[in-house]
Amino acid sequence: MKILKLLASAAMMASIAFAAPAFSQDKGLVGVAMPTKSSARWIADGDNMIKVLQERGYTTDLQYAEDDIPNQLSQIENMITKGAKVLVVASIDGTTLSDVLAQAHNAGIKVIAYDRLIRDTPNVDYYATFDNFQVGVLQATSLVKALKADTEKGPFNIELFGGSPDDNNAYFFYDGAMSVLQPLIDKGTLVVGSGQTGMDKVATLRWDPATAQARMDAILSSTYSDKKLNAVLSPYDGLSIGILSSVKGVGYGSGDMPMPFVSGQDAEVPSVKSIIAGEQYSTIFKDTRDLAKVTVDMVDAVMSGKEPEVNDTKTYNNGNKVVPSYLLKPVAIDKTNVDVLVKSGYYTEDQIK
Ligand code: BGC
Repeated sequence: MKILKLLASAAMMASIAFAAPAFSQDKGLVGVAMPTKSSARWIADGDNMIKVLQERGYTTDLQYAEDDIPNQLSQIENMITKGAKVLVVASIDGTTLSDVLAQAHNAGIKVIAYDRLIRDTPNVDYYATFDNFQVGVLQATSLVKALKADTEKGPFNIELFGGSPDDNNAYFFYDGAMSVLQPLIDKGTLVVGSGQTGMDKVATLRWDPATAQARMDAILSSTYSDKKLNAVLSPYDGLSIGILSSVKGVGYGSGDMPMPFVSGQDAEVPSVKSIIAGEQYSTIFKDTRDLAKVTVDMVDAVMSGKEPEVNDTKTYNNGNKVVPSYLLKPVAIDKTNVDVLVKSGYYTEDQIK
């Protein structure tokens, strides 16, 4: 019996010894804080980050905070306690992390802002994201193309939706879009029927689809009983789905009421299907695999005491300093080039059928 036990524990030791190289390669713990699982893009971001980090020999702690700020704060505190070497943070509210990031800084932990800028703190080292102003430009340009507002006189009726006012990106998306739309509004080619313009009027707290849907309902009943809505600037697919269900509710998409052209962002599956079905007009594809790769390259660099590669050192002032950034290129998608999503391997044909 004793011999058997000895043999068994020898076998266990051997298997531990066999597994050891994986541990000896361990380059340390990286904490990844994501905002919410309510949108598929963040799930893809988390999955891609973990995949690339583990391939490169890191251990990982991935947490989702379900859009609850205190939850995200305690998740990050936990990562610090567990001894994370680097924190990668996609914030819920970019202005609420100063204290916890001061703790991280004091513990010698490097901080990378992921997709969303962390504001009002010196303790964010780098920022990996897409060109957020360009996202807005592409959203608006797709609507101009759909309406032919660059060649026809109009007037075309448009409504504007913004993202969450606590997300720095939301202002970049809106400003990028308005850089295209404002000249056409000034010319009278586009008319914002409700008169609601500016982030203080059009923002959508926490990117909540139900909030956008309710606002669209209210605008339709206050403004569009005797005229037609032709286009809606929507900064995110989740909001677009809410907006589309609101307009469908009053009869758009059938009879003599064509669906207004609605933009979006993230190329989430329900929206890609909606584009193929001729409902949502466009979205913006941001390849989260590339964002994960750029971010882990940053992790690798800071872990070996090197300067990460950045391609923008001017744009992202977080209220305390300009955060060195790497900006990836967003891609506009509509019915004519939806195959990009399959060709790039982002989705399989079956996923978006
Ligand atoms: C991201 C967008 C996303 C939005 C809502 C933004 O910070 O950049 O890709 O649509 O958050 O989740």
